Amino acid sequence: MLLPDGFLTCVRCEDGLKREEGQNPIPGEGITEAEVMLIGESPGAEEMKTGRPFQGKAGENLNGFLASVGLDRNKMYVINTTRCRPYKEKERVLKDGTVRVTKSNKPPSPHAIKSCAVWLDYELKIVNPTLIVTLGSTPLKRLIGEQSISEVHGTLLTLPIQEPGEGEDSRTLYFSEKKYHIFPLYHPAAIIYRQELKQTFEQDLKKLRETIEQLNLRSVLL
Ligand code: SF4
Repeated sequence: MLLPDGFLTCVRCEDGLKREEGQNPIPGEGITEAEVMLIGESPGAEEMKTGRPFQGKAGENLNGFLASVGLDRNKMYVINTTRCRPYKEKERVLKDGTVRVTKSNKPPSPHAIKSCAVWLDYELKIVNPTLIVTLGSTPLKRLIGEQSISEVHGTLLTLPIQEPGEGEDSRTLYFSEKKYHIFPLYHPAAIIYRQELKQTFEQDLKKLRETIEQLNLRSVLL
């Protein structure tokens, strides 16, 4: 997909200012006419290194979960809510007195989410998917506002979404006139830390498969 002007050098939020040298914001990836778009949270270290969304362990998890219900990630469009890694740094003093700085992922700030809305919406408008699958609460809240994922996961919602305004108003989100099909899932990474969600997540995936069949989106089947 043709990237918009200013995307690769974007520093609209604090996470862009913390990008390492040689790294760029991570665009979405997949078939431009995909009928299904998956929206995750933010890139991690592996994604920033490879320049692609959902790589490494997170990508393997996602691909495996989708394949378990006969869905093919490569036939979808995969993207994140924000495009640069949000992380915090921690200093550790080693036995020999040297200081080591480690970085760990953290959720994107509300400012980063609003700042990055213009880029997500650029790709959303071009791909124009029939179904949006949100992974975790960050993309869900970005699209439909304050809504608890525990109340709506595994169900098909048909709602207006929040879109950024124009120009100087581009960090303010307004509800669209158009309604979109949205299917919220928990984030696959959450299943690793919260094993009690595994069964729920697997049931939701089966419901996603049924929804895809009901909407006749057969292009994303394995
Ligand atoms: S996260 Fe998004 S808004 Fe922030 S600097 Fe990166 S591309 Fe720009």
